[in-house]
Amino acid sequence: MKKKVILAIADGIGDRPCKELGYMTPLEYANTPNLDNLAKKGTSGLVDIIGPGIPIGTDLAHMILFGYLQEDYPGRGPIEASGAGLTLLPGDVAFRCNFATVDNNLNVIDRRAGRIRKNTKTLAESINNIQINGVQILFKEATEHRSILILRGQGLSANISDSDPKVIKGDTKYKKVKSTDGLEDSIFTAKILNKFLLKAHEILKNQEVNKTRIKNKLLPANFLLTRGAGMMPDIEKITNKFRFKASCIAAEGTVLGVARLAGFKIVTDKKMTGNIDTDIDFKAKKVIEELENSDFVALNMKCPDLMGHEGKPKLKVKAIELFDKLIGEILKGNMENTIIAVAADHSTPCEKEEHSGDPVPILINGPGVRKNRIEKYNEIDCSHGGLGRIKGHEFISTLYDYLELIKKEGN
Ligand code: ZN
Repeated sequence: MKKKVILAIADGIGDRPCKELGYMTPLEYANTPNLDNLAKKGTSGLVDIIGPGIPIGTDLAHMILFGYLQEDYPGRGPIEASGAGLTLLPGDVAFRCNFATVDNNLNVIDRRAGRIRKNTKTLAESINNIQINGVQILFKEATEHRSILILRGQGLSANISDSDPKVIKGDTKYKKVKSTDGLEDSIFTAKILNKFLLKAHEILKNQEVNKTRIKNKLLPANFLLTRGAGMMPDIEKITNKFRFKASCIAAEGTVLGVARLAGFKIVTDKKMTGNIDTDIDFKAKKVIEELENSDFVALNMKCPDLMGHEGKPKLKVKAIELFDKLIGEILKGNMENTIIAVAADHSTPCEKEEHSGDPVPILINGPGVRKNRIEKYNEIDCSHGGLGRIKGHEFISTLYDYLELIKKEGN
């Protein structure tokens, strides 16, 4: 009988020794009986998703964890567009956007329009499907203040700068978009986008939604800050390349976007919040359900990464313990024929509050998997495991080999 694989990804779980935890990492400090038991009865190691010391974003890291290579990366815009369920055509340029607030002089007051959550669909519809110089401009809201912009037409390029100034100090105007390569296509694209940004501002500031927000002393969402321009390259779905069925269970748009590109079935629900209040029983149930029809089931749990970004070791410990409980719930399913692997997309050390190039601990457990002489799942114990220190694509080919997807070399 063919095996199945579950890959549980604890976003940003890797860390460094924290003073607050007696110089242990959050993973060493946390009480994780389920993960430890899997490590004890399985094999483990450390993984550098790209290479030692190279920090990596959630999007590219998940691409590699699903079987792509670094050179397949299309940029953040196309991935977010895919996450929002938009299909890009060849030649489209996609951007990530924020609804933002500017004053009358176009100084940015708030990069996230007071973290607007409501009525963004109405605002998005007011600026969707506008034509400028023969270029069609599509716009769609995403979660909270986030949104997606697509330029569709002839002679466009993604080699243009961001309109998002990123850091606001005193009076900071939005950044006029510029060509980054000085070529005709990118100069044209920048011109179109600059025109659109001003046009969108005129339309947005007159929307009822914004007038009401101002009345209620909320910041109006009257401007768009764009970044991460990218074109969708012609990349093959991983599920077509290897000919297998896969599912992805996650809350975050970025992860879902990568999964959709890869050809995975997307499973998401409001009960999965991407935060510490996520419903782990529900998530575990979905994993077990998806195993029925899929060969490979990936799941992402976002909250360890969030706590790392906040620089809070004790909260990160809580997030990790919740991840351990989620694993415990999954293990209640029928695992007879199933390999379970645990990994992270990158480290997010509390001391750095950002992603780092520290390798992440991995483990593989299940029928046919060799045992190592280690006791726990953490950065330190896993460094003694039988998988050694490997690259992201080597880890994933190890998993896909259990699914018999990797061709034999030679004869
Ligand atoms: Zn992160």
